[in-house]
Amino acid sequence: MSFLANRILKIAWNERKLLNSQNLLSGVPCTHKTYSLKIKRMSSNLVIYNTLSRKKEIFEPINPPMVGLYVCGPTVYSDVHLGNCRTFVSFDLIYRYLLYSGYKVRYVRNITDAGHLEGDRDEGDDKFAKKAKLEQLEPMEIVQKYTIGFHDVLRLFNTLPPSIEPTATGHISEQIEMVKQIIANGYAYEVNGTVYFDVEKYSKNNDYTILTNRQLEDMLNNTRELGGQDEKKGRLDFALWIKAKPEHIMRWPSPWGVGFPGWHIECSAMSNKYLGHQFDIHGGGMDLAATHHTNEIAQSQACNHTNPAKYWMHTNMLTVNGARMSKSAGNGFLPRELFTGDHPLLTRGYSPMSVRFFMLQAHYRSTLDFSNEALEASDKGYRRLMNAIALLPKLKASASSEVDFEEIKQRFIAAMNDDFNSPVLIAELFEVVRIINSVYDNKTKIDAKGLAQLNTLVNDFVFNILGLKDDQTENNGDLEKLMDFIIKLRQEAKASKDYATSDLIRNSLQEMGFQLKDSKEGTVWSKS
Ligand code: AMP
Ligand code: ZN
Repeated sequence: MSFLANRILKIAWNERKLLNSQNLLSGVPCTHKTYSLKIKRMSSNLVIYNTLSRKKEIFEPINPPMVGLYVCGPTVYSDVHLGNCRTFVSFDLIYRYLLYSGYKVRYVRNITDAGHLEGDRDEGDDKFAKKAKLEQLEPMEIVQKYTIGFHDVLRLFNTLPPSIEPTATGHISEQIEMVKQIIANGYAYEVNGTVYFDVEKYSKNNDYTILTNRQLEDMLNNTRELGGQDEKKGRLDFALWIKAKPEHIMRWPSPWGVGFPGWHIECSAMSNKYLGHQFDIHGGGMDLAATHHTNEIAQSQACNHTNPAKYWMHTNMLTVNGARMSKSAGNGFLPRELFTGDHPLLTRGYSPMSVRFFMLQAHYRSTLDFSNEALEASDKGYRRLMNAIALLPKLKASASSEVDFEEIKQRFIAAMNDDFNSPVLIAELFEVVRIINSVYDNKTKIDAKGLAQLNTLVNDFVFNILGLKDDQTENNGDLEKLMDFIIKLRQEAKASKDYATSDLIRNSLQEMGFQLKDSKEGTVWSKS
């Protein structure tokens, strides 16, 4: 019997490892089947930090209940790193909370699949062409490969797909039209097949640095002098359309000859097409504000005479030892390395949900430093939350209630209304964890209505808004069954007074990180 019990424990453990590896490494797509948000309430108390005004403002959409949300997507020439994921997870939280609040959101997140040169100042190689040469693939094969990779990773992080995901190459004619209009309005000029935005002229009657409040003088002083070869009139001018050199593969005909669009114009053209001249929220990582978003505002202002977005939102950076995680700095963690633990800075792998929880424990406008210790601590918190939630079906309703769940809900909403403050929400959730454990231990009473409210709160705030799910039960329905079977074996061993076997089962499970908790109602298990 004890040999049999040992065998079963081994099988259970290997089974779990196998399921984990299948789920985590092959990018099993999660369906969004559990995600159904009812229109609930339209919050007039939501406050958003607007980079444009540098303060928190009450969120008043232009055309309620519609909300237009545009987020700059990835440049798909290599794998996304964890820093990129942080930005997309942050906007996923924002999107989810807007939906919960009753808004009808059109969420547009683009794919940059052309026109991104290595330098921010229209210099350097084309990122796609360079990678295509390196991997001996067509540029569009590069685009396809890394777009798929991007989607797989975001699915693992349980982010909702955007409403529209337009690509730069699919919107060349819209970009050309916009460039033509900017030229017609007098804010751009063509030199030898390349079209530049005239920043000096624009600055005469517009505030070019409105987004970051930098001094134009300082910017000029920090930008290198124009060289003899430079076609630009002014040092801050940037390309709207770039003439293709003969070897440049990604090329399109235009009124100025064969070329390709500059990086900034794609977001202006696509946001304009799907969300209109002015929409509610434009977002991206903080690193985009000074150049990309500054230029987007100038382009829209020059073309449509309006700042494209009412609220500009920027996520802060994920750092490693204080330095921004980036592809070029070479300190980028690939999500895959994180899930498997195959990285010198990691002692083990972490599940995507535990990493999502790690990200949400910091406010989106704070920096978040990545380390094994920080992940370890988050993982413990995440498991504590999930273990408490797993007890929900086992809670018994009492005749009376000692907990006011309506008041708790108001605290949750207050946290999220304060510029999507997920760390405060999570801190409040741990109060609910305490309540669940206390009800389970028969130390606190809640009635049937309270139990229903508690279930709704968890469903809304943990699963729908924070976008978390229990990776152990979600991914491992088989593990549940296996554990139930092992618990039954232990009960049988106990019933026949074979305490050596029942202790062996409990202790072996403990060594693997599984705890058994006995009570009058039976035995439940949890994983630390
Ligand atoms: P890219 O693919 O480089 O165009 O970046 C895609 C998105 O990730 C942009 O919104 C960037 O601002 C954002 N991003 C890049 N590095 C980081 C980082 N270390 N932390 C957070 N967001 C980042
Ligand atoms: Zn953009």
